[in-house]
Amino acid sequence: MVLASPSPESLRNNSSDQPALRRDETANPVETSSWTIEQSEELYRIRGWGEPYFGINAAGRVTVSPKGDRGGAIDLYELVESLKRRNLGLPLLIRFSDILADRIERLNACFSKAITRYSYAGHYRGVFPVKCNQQRHVVEDLVRFGEPYSFGLEAGSKPELLIALAMLKTPGALLICNGYKDYGYIETAMLAQKLGHQPILVLEQPEEVDLAIEVAQNLGLKPCLGVRSKLCAKGVGRWGTSSGDRAKFGLNLPEIVEAVDKLRAVDMLDCLQLLHFHIGSQISSIVTIKDAIREASQIYVELAKLGANMNYLDVGGGLAVDYDGSKTSFYASKNYNMQNYANDIVAEVKEACEEKGCAVPTLVSESGRAIASHQSVLIFDVLGTSSQPNSVPALPETKEHLVLRNLRETYDSINAENFQELFHDAAQFKDEAVSLFNFGYLSMTDRAKAEQIYWASCRKILAIIRTLDETPQEFENLEQILASIYYINLSIFQSAPDCWAIDQLFPILPIHHLDQEPTERATLADLTCDSDGKFDRFIDRLNVKPNLELHTHIPGQPYYLGMFLVGAYQEIMGNLHNMFGDTNTVHVQLTPQGGYAIEHVVKGDTMNEVLSYVQYNGDDLLESLRQASEAALRDGRIEIEEAQRLLETYEAGLRSYTYLNL
Ligand SMILES: *Cc1c(COP(=O)(O)O)cnc(C)c1O
Repeated sequence: MVLASPSPESLRNNSSDQPALRRDETANPVETSSWTIEQSEELYRIRGWGEPYFGINAAGRVTVSPKGDRGGAIDLYELVESLKRRNLGLPLLIRFSDILADRIERLNACFSKAITRYSYAGHYRGVFPVKCNQQRHVVEDLVRFGEPYSFGLEAGSKPELLIALAMLKTPGALLICNGYKDYGYIETAMLAQKLGHQPILVLEQPEEVDLAIEVAQNLGLKPCLGVRSKLCAKGVGRWGTSSGDRAKFGLNLPEIVEAVDKLRAVDMLDCLQLLHFHIGSQISSIVTIKDAIREASQIYVELAKLGANMNYLDVGGGLAVDYDGSKTSFYASKNYNMQNYANDIVAEVKEACEEKGCAVPTLVSESGRAIASHQSVLIFDVLGTSSQPNSVPALPETKEHLVLRNLRETYDSINAENFQELFHDAAQFKDEAVSLFNFGYLSMTDRAKAEQIYWASCRKILAIIRTLDETPQEFENLEQILASIYYINLSIFQSAPDCWAIDQLFPILPIHHLDQEPTERATLADLTCDSDGKFDRFIDRLNVKPNLELHTHIPGQPYYLGMFLVGAYQEIMGNLHNMFGDTNTVHVQLTPQGGYAIEHVVKGDTMNEVLSYVQYNGDDLLESLRQASEAALRDGRIEIEEAQRLLETYEAGLRSYTYLNL
């Protein structure tokens, strides 16, 4: 451990009226009953990121109100318990379909309000980008809940196009076709027009212009085309490079002008109806969004002037989610709400069109994250913990080594006035104990005791520091050094890959015991044998914090944590590191009677399934083990009952979940 040596200036004369903590209080932190659920709300910032869907009830448990303010709340802990009784073990992904419906409704309501407010003479037609969550049940829900708003789908690849074509049944809904395209993609999309779909092929690469013309001519039909523009307005943050002159997708202005010329030359300029841009995901600042809309509106108007039959302006995705609840332009947050977003789009587009006497377009947005995130909650349990020792060893009958007596005295004397001085004494005695041990003058048992008393002293000091308004500089990393590790039944690589890949933050908190003070500080370590498989960055009021406040884990008692806002991108990006597979997933929907129904259950991968992804056959593996056990039986190395038991557990293992079963 590295703690800076004390400087006299940093010594803080603390004459607070805090009594010195009694030994038992520090040795074994008791969860005080004076803790309130309001303190938990504040600590985990649940109002900031969770409203109106998540809250804490009087029993100190997280509640889910899938319909927001419109009533109906589910006690998440009870739900998990009842799912466990249905043999749905943790980790468990729970999707609340009503939340998805509410998100779609909200987005449409915001645009509709903005359209009324600015007397905008056009409509809003949203689409959901399938890449954000391709799971069939989610897409089915999206299409169903989106129907009243003619909500469509956006495909970014050939497989996603196949999903969208078959799933989208809503009359009048748009089917936006983005991503790299070959002849087959374009042909399929164009022919879909004949089924009554409204596909719009967005040209993203210069080559696609020629290809689209070729397919249209071969099919002899008039497609609806769009063009994706690279804007100069830059996104900021993680996906900032999705726009700008060097963006991966889109045509720059010279290329757009060339595309217009080409289309005009083959008498297809009337096919060009949509302008699209996408400046990246999770745009935290409204200023960035406004800049982009302003630039795109001008391009739109100019395209109309050039003779394109412009009808749609597609503002892409980027509508952010406030993961830390801070309502700031921090990358895990956003400094605007959905209504601000809709207002700015409507107002900017209207102004640009009015100035040039151009009819306003139908507005299209491709919000993925903002629609899909809130619906999913991932629940996982704590397997165990490890931390520095925090109690003092019992006094022996016989007199102890001097260094141990010194350490005990130091420990006993620590109080709010002298803790800085005594901290250094304790460290010195501990070093002395190590030296004595190295020269053979102290037994291993005594050295262990010395370390134990040292760590207990650190804990006692930490308890004092936590009561101070300001942490003395030299103790700033004490909290971190004393933090525990909580082992969790989860693979971050499978269930929260963005935390590992791009340092994404998701709110994490216990789903019960929230009426008790969380006295531990911990990082979370997952099941994989990978040192990256951990959570050590958590949402905080300002920036991030390295530890999460948790309750003391009592072995044998369930302690459930929830990770929230995980409905976008995580599932498909998850990987099979260490062969931990998909988690169990359930869809929960409120019933009109006030209860809830479990709509769909998607069982997580079995070991057989994950093994088959890497070309193993469960039967072959079992057969190989059977032969080995026959050989061992012949040689008398194993009893027949033992061999049988081994084969049975192996076979049962193949059929079971890849996670631990507690
Ligand atoms: C990823 C993507 C989206 C979705 O972005 P969100 O920020 O999740 O809303 C929309 N459009 C395109 C073209 C995308 O690539």
